[in-house]
Amino acid sequence: MAVLDQLTSQEAIDLENKYGAHNYHPLPVVLSKGEGVHVWDVEGKQYYDFLSAYSAVNQGHCHPKIIAAMVAQAQTLTLTSRAFHNDILGVFEAYVTKYFGFDKVLPMNTGAEAVETALKICRKWAYEVKGIANHEAEIIVCENNFHGRTTTIISFSNDPVARKHFGPFTEGFIKIEYDNLQALETTLKSNPNVAGFLVEPIQGEAGVYVPSEGYLLQAKALCVKYNVLFIADEVQTGIGRTGKLLAVDHENVKPDILILGKALSGGAYPVSAVLAANAVMNVIQPGNHGSTFGGNPVAAAVAMAALEVIKDEDLAENAERLGQIFRSELNGYIKNSSIAKLVRGKGLLNAIVINDSEDSDTAWNICLALRDNGLLAKPTHGNIIRFAPPLVINEKQLLDCVNIIISTLKQFETNS
Ligand SMILES: *Cc1c(COP(=O)(O)O)cnc(C)c1O
Repeated sequence: MAVLDQLTSQEAIDLENKYGAHNYHPLPVVLSKGEGVHVWDVEGKQYYDFLSAYSAVNQGHCHPKIIAAMVAQAQTLTLTSRAFHNDILGVFEAYVTKYFGFDKVLPMNTGAEAVETALKICRKWAYEVKGIANHEAEIIVCENNFHGRTTTIISFSNDPVARKHFGPFTEGFIKIEYDNLQALETTLKSNPNVAGFLVEPIQGEAGVYVPSEGYLLQAKALCVKYNVLFIADEVQTGIGRTGKLLAVDHENVKPDILILGKALSGGAYPVSAVLAANAVMNVIQPGNHGSTFGGNPVAAAVAMAALEVIKDEDLAENAERLGQIFRSELNGYIKNSSIAKLVRGKGLLNAIVINDSEDSDTAWNICLALRDNGLLAKPTHGNIIRFAPPLVINEKQLLDCVNIIISTLKQFETNS
């Protein structure tokens, strides 16, 4: 511990570079503490966290209620596996299904595992309920999707960096343009073997692409018409982030399969889940699917506390209100900006598009300057910077952050 306590930022970075696989390109900042909307680096500098671990930390860093639930459960019972029952899994399952309005839940750990689970459930439903011939089921996905990093999931990604030299890939996916109902209907009409439509209600990793109003509602209607499961990946958009409990709630859409992760634990622990009605979930029988840690006692306790915090502290409402302020303040600036082209998003999931080519390092350099000015954000896809603070942020803090962002952008204006 003494050695660790003395690490400088550079030493910590050097260790990661030498001993860790280089599967990420982090912003050069080394964090050692977090509380609410703030994080601190090893030298003691304080920052606003405007990434929230890709929207996992919606409830704020180290929320005392979530950490208390985690510690208490960790001191009592951590893991039984699903070989035996325990006294908290069922309580969590009842809680989470009522909370989101579904019959049944299948708990997993990471977002990618939950997406895999949803795909497997959808395929099994295709053969056993819809009556598609074995091995013929197809699932429609969208271009520029992000659903995780497993071999099957990257099979239907169109990010060349995520795919190159990881083949051969899993078959059974049809990719269509996002936010294009015509493409969805044409594909559904011409292909009776479609079992599901997997979609992000807002494409987060792609750069916070908000689809046209009515897209989700009409996509769901098309799914009903063609007897296809509407599968919403709300791993990033769910749990208050976009100003509603779920992003599909903006259009009053009920998915047939709902995928959750990230903020389901408030960032304290890996917890993910797939929710569905009995008619869908009952295709899963003993031995079909599972995970040693999925739905473990600590995960169950943490997730219940994390969901309670969302309601107790009205975090969805806060995201809706502060998101409006954030976009309107930034729009006011961007009108006359040469460096920022636009701001878009819903609730507190927003992004600005930088006025430079996608392969330029301008967005990266802006993020370095934001860091120096006390705010952490990261470019997604070259020239787009996502802004997603913990939902516990208050108006005063948000306006402080708007000032930091605007004064930082001003450093990069070409004609000022
Ligand atoms: C982050 C994310 C995932 C993957 O979650 P992991 O926990 O990183 O596996 C899946 N879908 C969406 C929309 C995400 O944002």
